[in-house]
Amino acid sequence: SSLARTDEVEPTIRSYITETREQALAQAAAVDAKIGRGEAIAPLAGIPGAIKDNICTRGTRTTCASKILANFVPPYDATVVDKLAAQGAVVTGKANCDEFAMGGSTENSGFFVSRNPWDTDRVPGGSSGGSAAAVAAGEAVWALGSDTGGSIRQPAAYCGNVGLKPTYGRVSRYGLVAYASSLDQIGPITRDVTDCALVLNAIAGYDAKDSTAINIDAPDYTRALVNNVKGLRVGLPKEYFGTGIQPEVATTIKKAVDQLIAMGAEVKEVSLPHTEYALPAYYLLAPAEASSNLARYDGVGFGHRAPGTDIIDMYKKTRSEGFGPEVKRRIMLGTYALSSGYYDAYYLKALQVRTLVKQDFDQAFAEVDVLVTPTAPTTAFKIGELSDPLAMYLQDIFTIPVNLAGLPGISIPCGFVHGLPVGLQIIGKPLAEAAIIQAAYTLE
Ligand code: GLN
Repeated sequence: SSLARTDEVEPTIRSYITETREQALAQAAAVDAKIGRGEAIAPLAGIPGAIKDNICTRGTRTTCASKILANFVPPYDATVVDKLAAQGAVVTGKANCDEFAMGGSTENSGFFVSRNPWDTDRVPGGSSGGSAAAVAAGEAVWALGSDTGGSIRQPAAYCGNVGLKPTYGRVSRYGLVAYASSLDQIGPITRDVTDCALVLNAIAGYDAKDSTAINIDAPDYTRALVNNVKGLRVGLPKEYFGTGIQPEVATTIKKAVDQLIAMGAEVKEVSLPHTEYALPAYYLLAPAEASSNLARYDGVGFGHRAPGTDIIDMYKKTRSEGFGPEVKRRIMLGTYALSSGYYDAYYLKALQVRTLVKQDFDQAFAEVDVLVTPTAPTTAFKIGELSDPLAMYLQDIFTIPVNLAGLPGISIPCGFVHGLPVGLQIIGKPLAEAAIIQAAYTLE
């Protein structure tokens, strides 16, 4: 039924860069056979899902939505893909995204734009927009996204899904093509909080192949599917309800907060005073890391190669043809921020700001258990509406601080404004995924 639904909606929605139908049917048949033999199956066995196309899949091309990797077929699976396969989960395809996960709408994809199933003139958000659109349109039951500055939570918000960015290090990044390695995390996009817990169970945990993985066992997140927020201390950061936010979005979030109060949560205002510096710090740090990570695409090891008169000419032509404008912008910004003479003024300063942002959260979490905010300042915007890159960057103001601090954050649907879904974000302490899942489940 997932494939039939895909036939129906995919010509309009365009969630997938590559569909893996034959493999999906074989995986499903293997689960059927298991059931036929009377063997026990895992919770996700036979359940179809989409994988963002910056997560490596053995034998299936993994493009990062970039022309430079249009023909790249990884010889190995990402750890998360291995873990899902071990459960018998079915992979329906590789989802569209912004090129190398740089963007918030899929408009930076090197191939095409995906569309928001709630209003096909609008973006599904990004960068994991294909993943969110596939789940919202019923093409897939679950999807994996990656979140460096909001790329799971913002598209989940725009498409009316649940999206969770785990604590940095909770989920292995092995096989996730690096954008900004100190910020990137893989996480689930699903229709509800129960499915979110099930997918997180499948992918969380230590991995010796990722040197930044946390070596602490992951709990069973389905145990957090409990309807109770009595006595939960909820903080509302006042900086997240100020200027730039669509008034109806703020009102919708406030209504959900009233519900939390009615259910017995203790809600109070808190302050995260360095919030306004998070966005500029991120847009120095992420491009700086990206400029280094993307140096490997030189036409030699893998991917696209343009013929050149000598090796320097080949490098130049390969990278000029292979990368899109936003990726080039970030490589230039990042290289500049890291260059001698500017390193202290930009990169080092941004790292110091990052520490201040983290300290803001530490102080808030001395008083409250979770923070509640809007996921994004507006609902999904029209395709082409945010042509200025700076305007696009501003969509990330409520999600980026969470990545800078390495914290877990979940976006859940919280009603509609003018027919478009609004996302509510719940932020937790490090490794407190269970706490935000429980609060999300209670609000659902
Ligand atoms: N929109 C942000 C950016 O363009 C976040 C992207 C992400 O989380 N991968 O960098």
